[in-house]
Amino acid sequence: MKEDIIISADLHCHSTVSDGVLSPEDVARRAHANGVTLWALTDHDILDGVPAARAQAEALGMRFIAGVEISVTWAGHTVHIVGLNVDDTDIALVEGLRHIRSGRTERAQEMARRLDAMGVVDSYQGALSYVSNPALISRTHFARYLVDRGYCSKLQEVFSRYLGERCPAYVPMQWSSLEQAVTWIRQAGGRAVIAHPGRYDYTPTQFDALFHEFRELGGEGIEVVTGSHTPDQYREYAAVARRYDFLASCGSDFHSPGEARLDLGKLPPLPADLTPVWHDWN
Ligand code: AMP
Ligand code: MN
Ligand code: MN
Ligand code: MN
Repeated sequence: MKEDIIISADLHCHSTVSDGVLSPEDVARRAHANGVTLWALTDHDILDGVPAARAQAEALGMRFIAGVEISVTWAGHTVHIVGLNVDDTDIALVEGLRHIRSGRTERAQEMARRLDAMGVVDSYQGALSYVSNPALISRTHFARYLVDRGYCSKLQEVFSRYLGERCPAYVPMQWSSLEQAVTWIRQAGGRAVIAHPGRYDYTPTQFDALFHEFRELGGEGIEVVTGSHTPDQYREYAAVARRYDFLASCGSDFHSPGEARLDLGKLPPLPADLTPVWHDWN
């Protein structure tokens, strides 16, 4: 991509096809209105929003990249791997994603039982009322229900008291393996990126192993600037990108106007010495 064109990239966000609250078309409109020139929709474990997102982006004259955020289990914790510039019709990727999201309904029912034991009533039906795609019920939908019913004041609080990894209503999942996710992405012509590394609960030794294994498998990028990182973490993961020779990515991780730490397109620039993940996309 030519150096003299100013690129405002936002390569991580969600629509109603997963746990966002705006349709793919409305996410495209908001990104464009906020000045985004290179945009990827990256719903959780599903590519169904891509055709509508692409059509709307093209209508607005905004460069579009097909993306997905894949749930992975690595060393007993969930890691999110973003796949960028994938062929959204690739059969192995589409079927692989269908397989990993297939346990979500059962997991949601178990979450609801545990929430019930903690005094949160009717949360399965409650969460469902926030779900727009029945194939993709997530903790975010439960969290919105708990906030709107007054059990918690903020989404963050739901995750620290009820649904986070160390909480009583947390139901562990076996998502895909790191190898599987990176392989699906690469075979669909895409580039694999570790999403929001600052959010994972790993020791420094585990992080080092994760980054090495990811690179060995053909993973290429890491998110440096994301709505999930503090400015200190921008610097920390810029250093990681340099140390492991990763391409750098950036994305708001936008889900909803009312929930955003960073709005679509409102990202500080990546450090100039890093190679952006889009450097060779023409
Ligand atoms: P799930 O894929 O069902 O495990 O849900 C994961 C989603 O929950 C993430 O993609 C976020 O949207 C949301 N989430 C996880 N942790 C937090 C948090 N601490 N605060 C707000 N949202 C969170
Ligand atoms: Mn989400
Ligand atoms: Mn994520
Ligand atoms: Mn995300």
